[in-house]
Amino acid sequence: FNTMGTRAHIEFWLDKPKTTKLNTEANEQTDLKAQQLIQQIVTEMSRLNNAMSPYIATSELSLLNNDAGSREVTISSELFSLLTIAQEISVLSHGAFDITYASIGYQYNYREKIRPQKNAIENALPAINYQGITLIEANNTVSFANNAIKIDLGGIAKGYAIQQCINILKLAGVESALMSAGGDTILLGDRRGRPWFVGIKHPRAEDKNAVHIPLSNEAISTSGDYERYFIEDGTRYHHIINPKTGDSAREVVSVSIIGKDATVVDALSTTVFVKGLKEGMAFIDTLPEYEAIIIDNNQKLHFSKGLQQ
Ligand code: ADP
Ligand code: MG
Ligand code: MG
Repeated sequence: FNTMGTRAHIEFWLDKPKTTKLNTEANEQTDLKAQQLIQQIVTEMSRLNNAMSPYIATSELSLLNNDAGSREVTISSELFSLLTIAQEISVLSHGAFDITYASIGYQYNYREKIRPQKNAIENALPAINYQGITLIEANNTVSFANNAIKIDLGGIAKGYAIQQCINILKLAGVESALMSAGGDTILLGDRRGRPWFVGIKHPRAEDKNAVHIPLSNEAISTSGDYERYFIEDGTRYHHIINPKTGDSAREVVSVSIIGKDATVVDALSTTVFVKGLKEGMAFIDTLPEYEAIIIDNNQKLHFSKGLQQ
């Protein structure tokens, strides 16, 4: 189904209780439970989209962007927690991940091939600084240093959302599932004794994968320069922005991160894309719980230390 500006996909197994003479309805009950779970997941994605979409004027995110430059805004503990994780990753990555990239990000329209020109970027750059966001934990309050600061959660919200959906399935007793939204995927358990196999798209060939990897109880997120982009005079303008320059990050073409925490995995894929091959790989090698597969500009694959075997 379509949600959060992308395609979501869900697969899961649900055990049928043994049909007995006394319980002939077991199959029907299981089917009904499966349908209800799917409905719950669709509803959950829609709830999160309504809270975090920049395109919905009444979303919590939009209200925050409107007001936090002029006053302290109290937000839900859910959004507050997500902003806290985003800020932690900004600190850890020295600003490669920065949700205030939005003051430039919002000036792009990839479908219409519209991009900010040099002076617009120069004007907006001072507003790109995660340190301009103040989070007060005592009462879930947020304020921005000035009115020019805008935030966007496109680099982290889908990872969080699929984790919420997997949690719904786990609560219902599901042990094997795959949930994805765009390039963000969680593999719960396995496929009944066989691992889930995840393909990482070939960055320059449609319907082709660059690599397949078996995964179980892991999240994987891929950031690619081929998802939302346009080409003008031979230059590719795409949706992952280097906060230091305000331009698209162009050192690599695809970054996949693997780890347990889907929210962090999502944010790290964007982060490493911005950092590029050398700095990005060195950064991931300092985080023992996260691994990376990077495809460089020559379509060569690079694996972090923990994946090399
Ligand atoms: P996808 O949207 O396919 O999941 P990513 O997880 O890499 O891909 O997220 C890319 C999105 O992250 C962009 O569309 C934008 O919303 C946001 N973004 C772009 N640059 C940055 C950045 N430097 N820091 C944080 N978020 C960013
Ligand atoms: Mg990401
Ligand atoms: Mg993502």
